[in-house]
Amino acid sequence: MSYIAASLDAEDPLARLRDHFQLPQGVIYLDGNSLGALPRSVSAAVKDLVERQWGEDLISSWNTHDWIRLPTSVGERIAPLIGAGPGQVLCADSISVNLFKLLATGLDLNGPRRVILTVEDDFPTDTYIAQGLAGLLGEAHCEIRRVPASELTSALNEDVAVLMLTEVNYRSGERHDMQELTEAAHAVGALVLWDLAHSAGVVPLELDALDVDMAVGCGYKYFNGGPGAPAFLYVNKRHQAKARQPLSGWLGHRAPFTFDPDYVAAEGVQQYQAGTPAIISMVALNAALNVFEQVTMEQIRTKSIALTEFFMQGLMSRGLLQTLVCLTPSEAARRGSQVSVSHAQSWGLSQALIEARVIVDFRAPDILRFGFSPLYNSFTDAERALDTLASILADKRYLQDRFVDRPTVT
Ligand SMILES: *Cc1c(COP(=O)(O)O)cnc(C)c1O
Repeated sequence: MSYIAASLDAEDPLARLRDHFQLPQGVIYLDGNSLGALPRSVSAAVKDLVERQWGEDLISSWNTHDWIRLPTSVGERIAPLIGAGPGQVLCADSISVNLFKLLATGLDLNGPRRVILTVEDDFPTDTYIAQGLAGLLGEAHCEIRRVPASELTSALNEDVAVLMLTEVNYRSGERHDMQELTEAAHAVGALVLWDLAHSAGVVPLELDALDVDMAVGCGYKYFNGGPGAPAFLYVNKRHQAKARQPLSGWLGHRAPFTFDPDYVAAEGVQQYQAGTPAIISMVALNAALNVFEQVTMEQIRTKSIALTEFFMQGLMSRGLLQTLVCLTPSEAARRGSQVSVSHAQSWGLSQALIEARVIVDFRAPDILRFGFSPLYNSFTDAERALDTLASILADKRYLQDRFVDRPTVT
């Protein structure tokens, strides 16, 4: 371990937070942008939920342990972390399902406009969901336009109903300018729907201050809610009276327990809950959020920038950029909390790193991602990852046969 990494860790005000996570010995976990590590608070909360609340208190727990309010109460805990005032965030479903609900809302609010504008290289599910909705609504009511990121501002015109973008690109780690694009969309009367999958929990956000219309985000990435943790959605207060969404399930009804034969939407963001929430997962996410009470989003961002900067400089100073191409912007303000590189043998490299206990991930066709979660990653983690990567590139281990096969999930 070098003096520099060790002294950066010694000065790091967030270093103590690592103890709140259960990380396996000897593993360097740089994949929190895909599945956050396990917060210690989660195991106890889930055990209590399963054994006492479900096991002993059974169905009465919907009231006595307030299970019924969890989508709202977890949403309200997420709200300040994304710059949202109360009454606008709901924890529910997956990002994919929430995108469907919100794209439909956006088209409805902004009709007769029918264009959903997005970029060519967005995360596939975002585009797939828009395509599904377009198929259902038909061309007369929905058209998808995809342009390169550099052409977004010129493609924004009075046809556009909704501009849908992921703030931090999952491949490159590059950030859009949320303020500039939100303002440009509003200037032509378009609504914005931001996907915060790679931002929430790691980048400070100001949804209310920027007057964002709608947003979605992930529970299992930087919020560490566990595999398949529910996602969240945001609908700005000023749209709520008119907003409608098509998944009109009973828990989005104004009075679910009157068992009314006809649907009447609940007021506010509550109408975006379709059916019964996954309580075990939501309780895990709720417990995972505890650690955010000990830190500000600004502190998280400061450390995130320092970690990615340290890693990118290390790639350069070790001469690794002679073989790898860094895809992540060097300007700190323009990147999220990951560093991505490309290499023709990225799959083999990712597998050789994982074998050496540096957990990273691969994204087709040739990208290797190093995700930094400031709550539990250290500068020493970044340095060990660099040393391991350098040694794998030097001995060309990544070309060996055992790194050829790809499993279902990469
Ligand atoms: C991770 C991620 C998702 C995940 O969507 P789910 O429906 O929750 O599985 C969606 N969009 C982006 C940009 C992501 O990075």
